[in-house]
Amino acid sequence: MKTNVQGERIVRCPQCGGESVFAPSNKWRPFCSERCRQIDLGAWASESFRVPATPPQDPDEFGPNGEPLH
Ligand SMILES: [Zn+2]
Repeated sequence: MKTNVQGERIVRCPQCGGESVFAPSNKWRPFCSERCRQIDLGAWASESFRVPATPPQDPDEFGPNGEPLH
């Protein structure tokens, strides 16, 4: 495990691949900075908007009395 001079754990920033301090002193952990964290959150948000909402129920999955067929 890699640590810095303070003995804090160093991890790889998921966004930029740089070194990030994984300790309470880094409030953006596991990211190295606020910028990387916000880029990642933005990517996540835009990704979720592209996923179409799933229909609440597929009528073919249920019998005449509403019982599941599978
Ligand atoms: Zn980063």
